[in-house]
Amino acid sequence: MKHLYRVWIQEYEARCGALLGRCAKATGEMVCVFPELRRASGYALTLWGRRAHWWCVAPDGEIIDPTENQFPLPVAEYIEWRPGDEVCVGKCMNCGEEIWRAVQSLDGERATICGEMCRAVLDREFNVRARRPPMALDVLEEPLA
Ligand SMILES: [Zn+2]
Repeated sequence: MKHLYRVWIQEYEARCGALLGRCAKATGEMVCVFPELRRASGYALTLWGRRAHWWCVAPDGEIIDPTENQFPLPVAEYIEWRPGDEVCVGKCMNCGEEIWRAVQSLDGERATICGEMCRAVLDREFNVRARRPPMALDVLEEPLA
């Protein structure tokens, strides 16, 4: 790794303290300072399993990861997301399953229902609630005939 990158990363760590969850911000700042770097996103295989992560790539393809020290061990593998690859876009309100879709950009689509089955269940639930008969208190307050 180029000496200047290493110095910037050490300075960033000293300035920010905790690196956990700072990968998006750190890579954004780093490519501003070093425009030859490309910002990449996807997954890092770590001791904790597969984590969504951002890092930088140098013109020669070397991975420059400003927040790698947030992980307990060096990252075993970087798997870059490319437009059209699947990502988790949300969790289903009904069944709680993760919803995975092929997307063209990472800051667009979000989903809250996984499919037609769960949409039907939620539709019925909300319609039943809307047609709920008046509660006892409502009835009591009606004027006596
Ligand atoms: Zn569902």
